[in-house]
Amino acid sequence: IRRYDTLAAARNWLPNANGEQSQSMNITEIFGENTLQLEALKERLPKEIWVALQRTIQEGEELNSKVADAVAVAMKDWAMEKGATHFTHWFQPLTGFTAEKHDSFITPNEGGGAIAEFSGKELIQGEPDASSFPHGGLRQTFEARGYTAWDPTSPAFIMENQNGSYLCIPTAFASWTGEALDHKTPLLRSNEALNKQAKRALKLFDVDTKRVGSTVGCEQEYFLVDQEFYYRRPDLMTTGRTLVGAKPPRGQELDDHYFGSIPERVLSFMLEAEKELYKLGIPVKTRHNEVAPSQYEIAPIFESSNIAADHQQLMMITLKRIARKYGFECLLHEKPYDGLNGSGKHLNWSLSTSEGMNLLEPGDNPHDNMQFLFFFSAILKAVYENQDLLRISIAHAANDHRLGANEAPPAIISAYIGDRLEDVINQLLEGDLKESKQGGLLGLGTPVLPSIPKHAGDRNRTSPFAFTGNKFEFRAVGSSQSISFPTVVLNTIVADALDEMCTQLEEKVDGDNSFEKALGAVLSDTLETSKDIIFNGDGYSDEWTEEAKNRGLLNLPTTMDALPLLTDDKNIDLFEKHKVLNEREVHSRQEIWAEQYLTTLNIETDTTEAIAKTMVYPAAVRYLNELAESVERIQRLELDNSGSMAMLQKVNTGINSLNESLEELREAVLEGEELPLMERATHIKDNVIPVMTKVRDSVDFLERYVADDYWPLPIYREMLFVK
Ligand code: ADP
Ligand code: MG
Repeated sequence: IRRYDTLAAARNWLPNANGEQSQSMNITEIFGENTLQLEALKERLPKEIWVALQRTIQEGEELNSKVADAVAVAMKDWAMEKGATHFTHWFQPLTGFTAEKHDSFITPNEGGGAIAEFSGKELIQGEPDASSFPHGGLRQTFEARGYTAWDPTSPAFIMENQNGSYLCIPTAFASWTGEALDHKTPLLRSNEALNKQAKRALKLFDVDTKRVGSTVGCEQEYFLVDQEFYYRRPDLMTTGRTLVGAKPPRGQELDDHYFGSIPERVLSFMLEAEKELYKLGIPVKTRHNEVAPSQYEIAPIFESSNIAADHQQLMMITLKRIARKYGFECLLHEKPYDGLNGSGKHLNWSLSTSEGMNLLEPGDNPHDNMQFLFFFSAILKAVYENQDLLRISIAHAANDHRLGANEAPPAIISAYIGDRLEDVINQLLEGDLKESKQGGLLGLGTPVLPSIPKHAGDRNRTSPFAFTGNKFEFRAVGSSQSISFPTVVLNTIVADALDEMCTQLEEKVDGDNSFEKALGAVLSDTLETSKDIIFNGDGYSDEWTEEAKNRGLLNLPTTMDALPLLTDDKNIDLFEKHKVLNEREVHSRQEIWAEQYLTTLNIETDTTEAIAKTMVYPAAVRYLNELAESVERIQRLELDNSGSMAMLQKVNTGINSLNESLEELREAVLEGEELPLMERATHIKDNVIPVMTKVRDSVDFLERYVADDYWPLPIYREMLFVK
């Protein structure tokens, strides 16, 4: 057997293989050139239409058909000037990916020609056959229709390659009974809930604002692997991760990759990907090498969460698409390689008014500080009371490999706030601030909050949810996942905490307390009950697991420990109260995610079996044969055959244990087959995954003994170090 050509993989890449002229870019010129920003739309619309559209965007007023028609024409004209021939509603079904169905602008006319048409009706509402999207019981099969509805708050954009382009219209996706089948709808609803409660809170602080929304900026980690290897690994192709593969002799121990200079070919890929992202109006800001070999990170500047969520999906699509032009496959999986760091997506989250005031920016006067502490405490309360929801929002099969306090946060949700803020909070709890000599927190004199540097030196990387100066960073989010649901959860739980705290404060102020006194009481009550969520120590330590248990915090190690809690009354009530999801919508999500877990694991077990039986086993047996022959021959020659014999025994042992574990795997899979959904998924977690690990161990054992030229799979060394 001849092995594939590793060298070719390293060499075959050419900087301009696709014949395009490399060119430097002028960011200001290309930024947003493929998006229809509201300003540009405004120029194309009659004034009264624009005013009506504004009412829809800002006040949620329904679009009438006249406005929709005018907007549709403006959009079509713009898109066709850009060379687009088709349009699609671009939506985010609960698969976590995006979906599109392209329609041509062109309609044949009577004379045998064709005219370009795009009406308001087509803009506002599309009607894809939704039967193949997950719906978790929300749609009967005879009601196959789903509806998509234009989201005017996220700009339309054009996707292009060298052969053409099409207009994408960001939309929400619902069943015909109006229930959300997508990620966007609840996100919009949760922003509304947050807006309502945050504005109410600001009113109490005498701040008037048009709108408050969450802002989100994500740091996206990913791996690149040469396609030469990718397409020879059935596991990478079908599951996104290596199901077998022994650790390389040189992993990330040397730490020479992190923040190192970016390899030439990778840099070329990054530059082109970023250029595409700029055109889409995505404000990419940073890039660097990550911890593991061949691992990288890209991060945009934060935006309002709805747009950030759309952009985050576009970012993942673009990274994958452009990587292929450079002979790479971009791996977004949370754990492509065993024994090396996995990939996450840090979700930076804050609250901002439409005038740009960051509500998590500590102030420099007592009033601003009080306001800051009010929102800050609300978040601690929200996290404390909804550890389960935050954990669920990041729960999926792939993230189970990553969370767990080795390289990523533990599955215990806690909040890091830094020593200085903890100090302030302790003083508040002890009532010291009120009497403090400098006029205190609640007085009007000197500001009491110590200034908190934005880049505090004691950044804690082991916390799942960390305050980093003017925003919280949710670090446990998985690299491949849509950020929508984690954002929905953050928005909703904070809206709820604000709601309760506002009610308390309003009541206390009514009962002729001074505002300061009332606020002090609400803050210390809130912090008193929620303070156990604060943890500034080492989240990776065993002591923390112990300590968290004593504090009564939830520890939900895997998806199937977390997901069942989604439909607890507490959670359904919360989502219903704030009109983010109704009961059926919550149940549907649980069902869909459990099904996804199951499907992922089924594909993984099948692929593991296929690789073991049809690739590894034949290679091992061929080598075994060769060894057996040589053992016999050496004996016939009356020479010492102990070396070959030892090897023969090793390989034979490996083959036997591989066979045993494969039988065990089949049995474990069969045992679960008749169980109902949730139990079956739990059975897989408890009984199938451990056996898959056994199979893997046998394969990895064989990889160390079978002759390299017999081994059918690209190995870690090749995949990780050919850049
Ligand atoms: P850090 O050094 O703390 O990681 P950066 O300024 O590099 O901070 O930001 C990291 C990420 O956090 C970026 O994606 C950035 O856009 C995002 N971010 C910064 N401020 C905010 C905010 N107010 N709201 C949401 N995300 C933010
Ligand atoms: Mg960060």
